[in-house]
Amino acid sequence: MLFHSTNYKTKEVGFKTAILRGQALDKGLYMLNQIPKLNKNQIYSFKNLEFQEIAFIVLSKIIGDEIPSDDLKTIINRALNFPAPIEKITKKDYICYLDRGPTCSFKDIGMRTLANLMEYFLKQENMNIIILVATSGDTGGAACNAFYEINGIKVVVLYPKNEISELQRKQMTTLGKNIISIGIEEKFDDCQKMVKTAFADEDLSHLNLSSANSINFGRLLPQTLYYFWSYAQIIEKKDEKIIFSAPSGNFGNLMGGLIAYRMGLPGGKFIAAVNENNEFPQFLKTGVYQKIEPSINCISNAMNVGHPSNLARLIDLYGGQMNEKGNLLKKPNMDKIRQDIVSYSISDELTKKTIERFYKNFNKIIEPHGAVGWAALQKYRRDYPRDFKLKSITLETADPAKFPDEIINLINITPEMPISLKKIEKKKEIPNPVKIETYQDFKAFLKENF
Ligand SMILES: *Cc1c(COP(=O)(O)O)cnc(C)c1O
Repeated sequence: MLFHSTNYKTKEVGFKTAILRGQALDKGLYMLNQIPKLNKNQIYSFKNLEFQEIAFIVLSKIIGDEIPSDDLKTIINRALNFPAPIEKITKKDYICYLDRGPTCSFKDIGMRTLANLMEYFLKQENMNIIILVATSGDTGGAACNAFYEINGIKVVVLYPKNEISELQRKQMTTLGKNIISIGIEEKFDDCQKMVKTAFADEDLSHLNLSSANSINFGRLLPQTLYYFWSYAQIIEKKDEKIIFSAPSGNFGNLMGGLIAYRMGLPGGKFIAAVNENNEFPQFLKTGVYQKIEPSINCISNAMNVGHPSNLARLIDLYGGQMNEKGNLLKKPNMDKIRQDIVSYSISDELTKKTIERFYKNFNKIIEPHGAVGWAALQKYRRDYPRDFKLKSITLETADPAKFPDEIINLINITPEMPISLKKIEKKKEIPNPVKIETYQDFKAFLKENF
């Protein structure tokens, strides 16, 4: 399989290069030239398979012969070693829990797969790399955990000090060894900008910088899997269409679904559920794209993104072109996008109401990100009554225990803490290693330390 850059100003590369580089040299994102298809019978047969077995079939279809079967199986079994259970909430509506990994975020799925892929390719190439991560909350924790003690890789994480929870911070600051976490006063978008600038900075090219943000295709790829998996768990007949609701920030979650759809997954509709950062639903409505700067702080803090980095890939998938600044150079097929995707912006007020109602109606706790997904599904159900027969899956992307204050305030219940989080709570934090305010500070830090 070959990958092009969404900016089209650099050479096409194979899977290995796309993974090790993260971002293309022209600041675009790597995207598959062609999306391979699975046939209907094969997808229906997923009903009888385990998650890892489905993972092997789907991933080998894309990775092809760049990784031998046995090695790919080992990578999958190491990375995807936790369940993704599905629960029936109403007659037609299901939730798939993607929060059962070590950092209790759906990001574990992409990150652990990426870490294992990278380790495999780096060993082959006899290479060392430094991974730069910008995080709005959950990516950092998942990256630190996935890459901890992996040979040949050092991780530097930038996070917005004032926008993340204590637990999210502790997931990044209690590890040490090959992990360095730096808190800054600015916002997530500023972290992301610094990281992107560093990638494009020729003075730093000797450091072999790479990315674990969802701009890396290796993270996106495994995010196709839970769509196939959850679909297979709930369908009754072949080619049954269903609705997916994906809580969305940088749109890696949603892109996983859209790629699965192009691979043959019978999607009825994909709901891009966003918080008050409503640049995407506005774009669908008007055809004009305008980022939100600065991004708006909402309680679903891992989705506080005013310009989704994967949007360039989405636009590319629909025949358009968007550069790294968010300028639309070529309009995509808007009709087709609107056919496949519906997007709703959910206010914090409605997110909170949804958490309360969900508990009252179903006696279960949903956390802010999942609540945005669930609330968007309710809007879809109201707006598209003709789809009432279709089943739906909402992706729950984090464990409620990561947002205890919000949950206690709303429903007066302390969410039970999973063991992996309990352990982190007690660990000692490593103090912030350096004060970073500008890109020059960041660059100087990298030059001095590596
Ligand atoms: C990152 C994240 C999301 C959004 O995923 P994107 O791929 O950025 O759209 C949703 N929920 C949680 C808990 C997350 O950490």
